[in-house]
Amino acid sequence: MTRILVLGGTSEASQLARALAQGGADAVFSYAGRTAAPVAQPLPTRVGGFGGAEGLAEFLRAEGITHVVDATHPFAAQMRRNAVAACDREGVSLCALERAPWQAGPGDDWRHVPDTAAAVAALPEAPARVFLAIGKQTLDAFAEKPQHHYLLRLVDAPKAPLPLPKTSFVIARGPFTAEGDRALLRGHAIDLIVAKNAGGSGARAKLDAARALGLPVILIDRPDVPARRVFDSVEAVMDWLPHPARLGE
Ligand code: NAP
Repeated sequence: MTRILVLGGTSEASQLARALAQGGADAVFSYAGRTAAPVAQPLPTRVGGFGGAEGLAEFLRAEGITHVVDATHPFAAQMRRNAVAACDREGVSLCALERAPWQAGPGDDWRHVPDTAAAVAALPEAPARVFLAIGKQTLDAFAEKPQHHYLLRLVDAPKAPLPLPKTSFVIARGPFTAEGDRALLRGHAIDLIVAKNAGGSGARAKLDAARALGLPVILIDRPDVPARRVFDSVEAVMDWLPHPARLGE
């Protein structure tokens, strides 16, 4: 009997959920609960942390999970580590569904940095208008460079004051288009972009827009996670899972 846990929070996770639902799989979808109105899924859905690797291991046992697909964002490092530890402990099969990182092409002006602190350090000293395309969780670090005006793009309007003195924000949920992002960058007179190397197509629009406008990008590398089986497409994950005809057995 196969019972699957999908760790979600990405468009790839939603695509996988659709494929599993269509195949009649016995599967549970999990959200961290970071956004006010997460995308509805065609699978039974739970929301909120498990309580670390131990909590996740307990959940796997209690729910009789046989396979975990970690389809979280490449920067959700803690969840990814917890999934490896919990699956190891419980003898549950694990794979990750992960988009390949973006690679610079002709015309791109990308400066790669290892983490958020290095992205802050890489910002110029002279005041600039920066599109800080990194979500809301690691904004605090940029308070070290308060001279810049920061444009943020958030899924939900902030409930508390932002930790940066000069900001504007737009509320929007991807996928985005290069045309739309060009208009955004032009409209806000952006000088440079800070982004995470998330990979995938929907979030790539800002990089294509940056190339078209000749803007530099400070690109934060992905955090390290323990080795695990990785697939880069929903089809490959579906092939790895027990045969579709038996999914719901
Ligand atoms: P994180 O730092 O790796 O995770 C922190 C904690 O949040 C985890 O230890 C876990 O809590 C809980 N958690 C994370 N993902 C979960 C899931 N799918 N289901 C249940 N609990 C989850 O993760 P994060 O960077 O805050 O990301 C949170 C969510 O946002 C993830 O679903 C991720 O896919 C999505 N997301 C993240 C980014 C990003 O840039 N980081 C961008 C887009 C979307 P417990 O330890 O209590 O289990």
